[in-house]
Amino acid sequence: MGRVYNFSAGPAMLPVEVLEEAARDMLDYHGCGQSVMEMSHRSAEFKAIIEEAEKDLRDLLSVPENYKVLFMQGGGNQQFAAVPLNLMKNGVADYILTGQWAKKAAKEAEKYGEVHVIASSADKTFSYIPDCSDLPVSPDADYVYICENNTIYGTKFHKLPDTKGKPLVADVSSCFLSEKHDVEKYGILWGGVQKNVGPAGCGIVIIRDDLIREDINPMTPTIMNYKVTADNGSLYNTPPCYVIYICGLVFKWLKKMGGLDEMHRRNVEKAKVLYDFLDASSLFKGTVEPDSRSLMNVPFVTGDKDLDAAFVKEAAAAGLINLKGHRTVGGMRASIYNAMPKEGVETLVRFMEAFEAKHKA
Ligand SMILES: *Cc1c(COP(=O)(O)O)cnc(C)c1O
Repeated sequence: MGRVYNFSAGPAMLPVEVLEEAARDMLDYHGCGQSVMEMSHRSAEFKAIIEEAEKDLRDLLSVPENYKVLFMQGGGNQQFAAVPLNLMKNGVADYILTGQWAKKAAKEAEKYGEVHVIASSADKTFSYIPDCSDLPVSPDADYVYICENNTIYGTKFHKLPDTKGKPLVADVSSCFLSEKHDVEKYGILWGGVQKNVGPAGCGIVIIRDDLIREDINPMTPTIMNYKVTADNGSLYNTPPCYVIYICGLVFKWLKKMGGLDEMHRRNVEKAKVLYDFLDASSLFKGTVEPDSRSLMNVPFVTGDKDLDAAFVKEAAAAGLINLKGHRTVGGMRASIYNAMPKEGVETLVRFMEAFEAKHKA
């Protein structure tokens, strides 16, 4: 079997060009006689890798001077704890619940302070993004927290909430670099890289520098301290060197592709192929309210559990893998991140058409 179309929510597909370049560098990175996996994180070669990765990321997102970029080991769940530990000064934070990952983040924050849920879409199984234009923001909230793209439910904030002056903290794991984020609108945007950027093992935190403080919760593990991480250029301890190297290659690939506005254009076009099909299909149905739809994660169902299972199985046999929905929601989900080519989505739609024809009574 050649390469499959992998619709996994993460770890997910990486651009073939990036994998090919990593393969070329595998035994001998740029003539230094060793692989990136083997080199010291204090070496000149690795220093150049991490600095260039940061520079390319800053270029892609036009990250303002007063924001720091931190590479932190530990992925998304680490940030669920790192955010309240580093940011809760008054001990209060507002959370908007739009799915599992926001719920988990709120639950973790409850260990360190008071959490106020100021909006939620739990009433309709998280199938929409609540109106966040006039929220009951707590006067003493240290921040307002969202999960911008809900990987499991397939919704996305297309308009950021009005936080009434409080810093906005956003988990952008599953929409990171799918379009140009307006960094200045956030106090922090952070993403685990294994969804849309690189392999598992790293979270990238983009943080406004006034939010990097010394007087944080004294229980904060040193390794989760934003100030320590920033002061040490993300090299306080051994970082996930190889993951950072691959992320750097992906940043270069994104630049070569034309940058994030071009990626966004492609992502809109690509998602439209699938959503248009779902809207017209008599067998498959999307589960999200149209104006809350994600461009990255597309959940859908047939309405019949056995048929869903048959679909997932037959699709996998045809080289369209990991289409099973999250274990908590069932059905199907196609994750179509930056690295999924449009042909992958077109192939999926052709397969769905054939499946529909076969199963129409
Ligand atoms: C996957 C995911 C997480 C969890 O990331 P881990 O690195 O597995 O801890 C958090 N938030 C979102 C939006 C995700 O998609």
